[in-house]
Amino acid sequence: MDTSPPAIIPSLGGAVASLGAMRWSNLFVPTLRDAPNDAVAPSHALLIRAGFIRQLHAGHYSMLPLGWRTHQKVAQIVRDEIDAIGGQEFLLPTMHPAEIWQQSGRWDTMGEIMFRLDDRRGNPTALGITHEEIFATVATELSSYKQLPQLWYQIQTKFRDEARPKSGLLRVREFHMKDSYSFDVDQAGLDAQFDAHDAAYRTIFARLGVPAFGVEASSGAMGGNDSVEFMTPSDAGEDDVVRCSSCDYAANVERATSTLPVIDDPAPAAEPEKFATPGVLTIAALEAFEGGAPADRQLKTLVMMMDGQITLVVVRGDHQLNTQKLIDATGAIDVRPAEREETFAALGANPGSLGAVGVTDLPVIADLALEGRTSMTTGANDDGFHFRHVDVARDLHVGRWADLREVSAGEACPNCGTPLDIVRCIEIGHIFKLGTKYAETFGATVSTPDGEVPIVMGSYGIGIGRNMAAAVEANHDDKGIVWPVEIAPYEVVITAMRLDETTLGAAEAMYADLKAAGVDVLLDDRDARAGVKFADAELVGFPVRLTVGPRGLDNGVVELVERASGEQAEVAIGDVVADVTRRLSALRGTISG
Ligand SMILES: [Zn+2]
Repeated sequence: MDTSPPAIIPSLGGAVASLGAMRWSNLFVPTLRDAPNDAVAPSHALLIRAGFIRQLHAGHYSMLPLGWRTHQKVAQIVRDEIDAIGGQEFLLPTMHPAEIWQQSGRWDTMGEIMFRLDDRRGNPTALGITHEEIFATVATELSSYKQLPQLWYQIQTKFRDEARPKSGLLRVREFHMKDSYSFDVDQAGLDAQFDAHDAAYRTIFARLGVPAFGVEASSGAMGGNDSVEFMTPSDAGEDDVVRCSSCDYAANVERATSTLPVIDDPAPAAEPEKFATPGVLTIAALEAFEGGAPADRQLKTLVMMMDGQITLVVVRGDHQLNTQKLIDATGAIDVRPAEREETFAALGANPGSLGAVGVTDLPVIADLALEGRTSMTTGANDDGFHFRHVDVARDLHVGRWADLREVSAGEACPNCGTPLDIVRCIEIGHIFKLGTKYAETFGATVSTPDGEVPIVMGSYGIGIGRNMAAAVEANHDDKGIVWPVEIAPYEVVITAMRLDETTLGAAEAMYADLKAAGVDVLLDDRDARAGVKFADAELVGFPVRLTVGPRGLDNGVVELVERASGEQAEVAIGDVVADVTRRLSALRGTISG
């Protein structure tokens, strides 16, 4: 390895030094005609083509100069809004000792998503996926309720060993996140900080130009009770959100419910009747079978291995189990469908003939939609046979009832009855009421007039890079990115049509005037055809382009184009600063208004 000191870099030339201008000819913007083949999401393709990011390896991206400028602007908006609700910025370590995660129990529950490594002494460590534990240990130094409330945050690198990193910055293994943590003496304090975050997040998304709405969420591995996920509709997303078009009902499919039409069962028989169903292995086949039953009068029995225990999960024949609902309802950590051999060993039958009637030696969990159902058909745990006249409460030993079914599009809104939509979304933020779990684990308590109490915590996250990508998903066209002003790498590009002294001199003067007026501006002084410069400016997505050419200069004007609307105008050279600043502030208004 060469460890000698770097050579002194020769001067790049008098013009650069004297003007101090950001010149495209010196800027590293490797634009590409085509995106990589795996770039399906528009933000993935465009951020690569426009020279913002490059992949190092799957899920890890280098931020190139334009990318880092935008990334920093996104981070600054988040910082502004969290500061505005009283946030104090920290920076905690990325690498954590295993003991802290073992203490909270998440060393085990995080599973493969957590990067782990041993140091040279063999001490196990983890790369931070989130920082509840670490902030809770810091909070142990709070001692009196008079010090509360506190709101602490950081903007810092997180690691997540995603099974399938994809879609550019949307699903990565290394990313920057703003994570904040609130500390209060009671639930009312937590509620207030939660509501403050809810409002701050909505402002952030508006400033980023990302349409957002909040949904009830599964709290998953985060261990919270109340939580809201913020979503933006996009085909590039990985979350399905159930949404009502008439009222404000919206929930992640892992949490959503719907109102089902009431089904009147025939009067039940005294006991189940076993009947032969040769070759009938599916719900559909049993519907078609002579003497069978419609799907909504069948029981679907799913044999699951839950933390090593075979468990029967029963839903209606035409319903789908949502595994996350099962996990949330039971608290189980390791959940998977049982293997065929495991199933046969437990029930003595194969899939197609399985059921829970009379099963007493295995846990049985049933979906709430089966409550009160009395004339159902189900497998008899005997290959080629089913039971009919099954009364769920009478014939199944249900140990737990829970909402387990996944809502389907068109089912009725639980609030107003309107048919529900299912919308593909990107999760762009998440806020949780954690309660006292972490404070109790780490001994973060404060004294109050009524004695010592655990601190009530909340936790709130926003991915910076993901929101940068979400902004592109929401703001692009077939020519490239259309950056909202506040997060554009530069607000204005001045395109010099020629590099002669007069044209370049006028462009440089305009650059200096705009810069002096506080405009974030780039001067395109590349020795390239006008068509190339225009195409690059559109691909990169600067909100305003000024074109300085000999013909316009003869008439004392420059051409101005707004990227978003395509609006063109000729602006007198003396009016450029006023015109541009007015337009930029109007463009800001359209985003945040
Ligand atoms: Zn509704």
